Amino acid sequence: MDAVKLTVVIPMLNEEANIAPLFDRLFPVLHGMGETFEVVVIDDGSKDKTLSLLNAVKAEHPELCILSFARNFGQHAAVMAGFEAARGEWVVTLDADLQNPPEEIPAICEQLRKGHDLVNTYRMGRQDSSFRLTASKITNNVARRFSGITLRDFGCMLRGYHRDVVKPMTLRKEFRTFIPALAMLYARSPVEIPVGHEARSRGVSNYSFRKLLSLQLDLITSFSIAPLRLLFVLGWSVAGLGLGFGFLLLILRALHGPEWAAQGVFTLFAILFIFIGAQFLAFGLLGEYIGRIYQEVRSRPTYLLRKTDVENNSGKGEGEK
Ligand code: UDP
Ligand code: MG
Repeated sequence: MDAVKLTVVIPMLNEEANIAPLFDRLFPVLHGMGETFEVVVIDDGSKDKTLSLLNAVKAEHPELCILSFARNFGQHAAVMAGFEAARGEWVVTLDADLQNPPEEIPAICEQLRKGHDLVNTYRMGRQDSSFRLTASKITNNVARRFSGITLRDFGCMLRGYHRDVVKPMTLRKEFRTFIPALAMLYARSPVEIPVGHEARSRGVSNYSFRKLLSLQLDLITSFSIAPLRLLFVLGWSVAGLGLGFGFLLLILRALHGPEWAAQGVFTLFAILFIFIGAQFLAFGLLGEYIGRIYQEVRSRPTYLLRKTDVENNSGKGEGEK
């Protein structure tokens, strides 16, 4: 298969009402850019007419490539499948509901042309419900704190990636992930630009509170073992307190006699505290090991080479087995 310059990846879940308006705006923009392109659409288990409408579009536009999931696997899994299928040197991801204006694609590609390997975006004048805006604010804050990645807007999926960043993203093995944060791990010169944002004019958002929460957990657990580390800190604190309190009870028992200590009851408490503390410490230690196992099994490359003079070096890093 021939390579193309640009691949546009679009995940779709029940977007029948948006297909015609989307392609009416997208294809003129792409043709106007004068680069070779393809559009990879992933039907994420839609239950409406999305797939048959896509097939109709393909009959007129051979640049369209359709992947259809057996069932709904989620937006990030869909984008990942699109990355694996993409042949372009540049890849741009886009939502199907026209909340991300396709007219922004040339500006994103301009940054890629300048040599940036990842073009992040933040939404100007966001047109979302106050519930979504609050959810985004929390997501962005939590994501920054836990992942250590400083992005203004983790949620906007209108982004541009060079092949060099897309490739390692498709090679790692992890069941759940959060694409904007993952891309930052492999980018050498990321840039962040503002993009416009429109209200969803047709259909409804596919993100319920439950789905948003699950996405937030994906983000935290995929990019940080801080919650497990917290167990370790908690373990030390509880163990320290338990030991201290236990010894205090024993000393006071020695000083004030068995009456003060309610005939041995306090001593039993002291022993109990010491054991509880030891248990928490053990949990913390297990947490630390589990965190390390978790990091190993994801098999993210430990490093990535862009260039090497040494033969037989796959350039993938030892983490990738
Ligand atoms: N989407 C998907 N699978 C899902 C949820 C969403 O492919 O499980 C697609 C959806 O069709 C749209 C994009 O991801 O193209 C963003 O979803 P949506 O507009 O519902 O989210 P919001 O804009 O409310 O964040
Ligand atoms: Mg949307």
